[in-house]
Amino acid sequence: MIDLFRRLPLSAKLILIGLIPSIFLVCLSVEFYTFEKQKYKLSIENIKVVDRSSIVNRLIDRLQEERRFAFEYALKKDGYAQMLEQQRLTDTVIGNIENDPDLKGFEKYTMLDSLQSIRKQSSAHKLSTGQVMNFYTTAIFRISMLEVTPQLQLANAGLLNRELHSARALSQMITYLGILRSNIYNVLYTRQFKYGNGTLLGLLGVYEVFSTYQVEFKAKSPEKTLASYNLIMQRPAKPTIDYLVKSFKTMQFDSTSFTDEQWLSVSGIAVEQLRGLQANIWSTIDQQLIRVRDNIHRSQNILLLLLLLGLGLSVGIITLTIISITKTLTELRIAAEKIAVGETGLTLSIASNDVIGKLANAVLFIDKNNQMLTHAANEIRMGNFDIALTPRGSSDMLGNSLLQMKNELQHNTREKIEQAAELRRLLAAVRESENHFRQIADQTPFMIWQFDKRGKAMYVNKQWVDFTGLTVEESLGSGWTRALHPDGMKEAGFVKHFASLKSFRTRTRFKNRQNQYRWILVQADPIFNDGVFEGFIGSLTDITDQIAAQEALIELMNKKDEFLSIASHELKTPLTSIKGYTQMLKKNMDETDKSYPIAGKTLFHVDKLEKLVNDLLDVSRINSGQMIYKDEIFDFRQLLEESVEDFMNISAKHKIIVQSNADAQIKGDRMRIEQVLNNLINNAAKYSPDADTVVINSQVKDGQLVVSIQDFGIGVDQKDKGSLFKKFYRTQKDLYKFQGLGLGLFISGEIIERHTGSIWVESEKGKGSTFYFMLPLA
Ligand code: ADP
Repeated sequence: MIDLFRRLPLSAKLILIGLIPSIFLVCLSVEFYTFEKQKYKLSIENIKVVDRSSIVNRLIDRLQEERRFAFEYALKKDGYAQMLEQQRLTDTVIGNIENDPDLKGFEKYTMLDSLQSIRKQSSAHKLSTGQVMNFYTTAIFRISMLEVTPQLQLANAGLLNRELHSARALSQMITYLGILRSNIYNVLYTRQFKYGNGTLLGLLGVYEVFSTYQVEFKAKSPEKTLASYNLIMQRPAKPTIDYLVKSFKTMQFDSTSFTDEQWLSVSGIAVEQLRGLQANIWSTIDQQLIRVRDNIHRSQNILLLLLLLGLGLSVGIITLTIISITKTLTELRIAAEKIAVGETGLTLSIASNDVIGKLANAVLFIDKNNQMLTHAANEIRMGNFDIALTPRGSSDMLGNSLLQMKNELQHNTREKIEQAAELRRLLAAVRESENHFRQIADQTPFMIWQFDKRGKAMYVNKQWVDFTGLTVEESLGSGWTRALHPDGMKEAGFVKHFASLKSFRTRTRFKNRQNQYRWILVQADPIFNDGVFEGFIGSLTDITDQIAAQEALIELMNKKDEFLSIASHELKTPLTSIKGYTQMLKKNMDETDKSYPIAGKTLFHVDKLEKLVNDLLDVSRINSGQMIYKDEIFDFRQLLEESVEDFMNISAKHKIIVQSNADAQIKGDRMRIEQVLNNLINNAAKYSPDADTVVINSQVKDGQLVVSIQDFGIGVDQKDKGSLFKKFYRTQKDLYKFQGLGLGLFISGEIIERHTGSIWVESEKGKGSTFYFMLPLA
């Protein structure tokens, strides 16, 4: 519910806020008005009762008069016209009462329905004075029952109520005085004094009732009325009252004071006077009632007017409040939206000093501050760091940040200016160095390129232009490929090399200005700046002539191999014959024979020659792939022992120490492995002329046989290590110092390779060498 209310737009909320009290107010006003109207209605009803009381009183009056005339007519048969006149007056009042809806049908229960027949009988003298008196008195009694003493429930109605009381009491007094008067007149007229005491006794009750009404009248009447009453009692009514007092005191009729006519006249005056007073009281009451009624109507109208006015005013004020709040908030919303999109220079027409006014002032303050910050930011942008920028306080994040930014910007700008100057200096230096580079690059004998990271040429030197005939502009970007052979891209593997970001070396064909394709060696290195790849710089060298020379050389080498192959084959047969014959000669000679040592030396050199020829034959077999290997399993331990023994037999100088000889079975060509072993042992002795030992180790490691032959001779240069196992390779220094063709290690390498093994050397120049080979176990 609360959520729903919160989601309502403000205008709806304000309307609700205004509407609910307004409805409440309207309901309250209607309720109040109805209540008041009810109250007035009650008052009017009250007044009506008073009115009714007045009219009933008047009827009683009229009937009393009529009773007097009817009584007199019955008594004296006189005054018929007066009686008729009085009857007419009575009827007028009866007519008035009949108009009152609340008293409809009153004739029935007041016996007035018999009035017309009584009048008729009375006119025809068919009724006695007693019957006349009886009818009228009973009727008057009944009618007086209709009358209630009205009480006005109104403010300031005290006097009026007292008048009403006095009117009622006076009316009763007049009624009872009338009864007393008629009865006394009857006694005086008929002169039946002897029954007088009985009559007085009968009338005593009436007199006492009269007296109690008199007491009530005196107690309740307002002063003015009482004063008028007292005046009547002291003067015109005095003889009547005195007569009555005296009669009921002595309980004797005084037939001397008044004759019947005198009594009628004197008591008539008293009754008339009292009636006059009664009329005055009623007239006062009437006047006051008119005033009260007017007042009620006026105050009712005023109340209605006030209610309408109050309601209108409330609704007006609420509407005005809603409109003004909505308008103000709309202004504030627009202002806030402007601030939100970064506008400045707002105007707000809010004058109140309430929470909204303060909010508006806060918004204006934000705007003012924004203007100040904008102005400051503009000035700072234009480089004016002297502009005042004062944050609103320590919690003003934006202001403080801007101030900090300004200070840092000022600092940075200063640094930047210095850096720019430095940069300019550096740039000049770079330009100079670039010029320098270009001059150098243009003077180098080879072509130079520079490529950016996307593989686009950024620079080519003069040699490129001279070679290709393309201008610098034509060559830049992808233009250089115009000089490239159609297969050049693939041939050189440019794409792959560029992607590798590593130095590369390749060759391909480029077209020269004579439209001839030339072989070019391309060497390039990547350029990195702070670890970021920026491209390649490379050189291009025309190697067409070199290639041609290499090809010629290869051809020559092939021819050499061919020659050696033929020569060694051709040499082999005579050499075998020479060796056979020399052995035979030596065998047939006596040891004392002079030629015996010569035959021995001849055999020694023939052996060396045979070894040379065998090596040459092996090389030609290797070259032609005709080397044949046997595949057998042999005991390497035994092979090593035999080889060492054979060597020891011929070598006088070097001693071979076998530190370890592993028990290993090898699968392969025993003779060829022996050839490798002999070659390495011979080399160890040959290249250690100043030493006398060779150390051999044969061990099994990780399922492999590892054999090492260590000497303490001249050692191998680091640069030569990689080439020792090449065909005909001999180190420069050993070329003439030690005999040999440079084939032993080449052949050994080939044999070990064919046995899926490996061969290598570890050596330190001047300290000796260790040759290793490794073979898989069988
Ligand atoms: P060569 O017949 O010349 O000895 P090799 O192929 O056996 O031919 O040897 C090639 C070259 O390796 C030799 O000329 C020599 O310079 C070098 N060399 C071979 N063995 C040794 C060694 N034990 N100590 C030093 N240098 C050696």
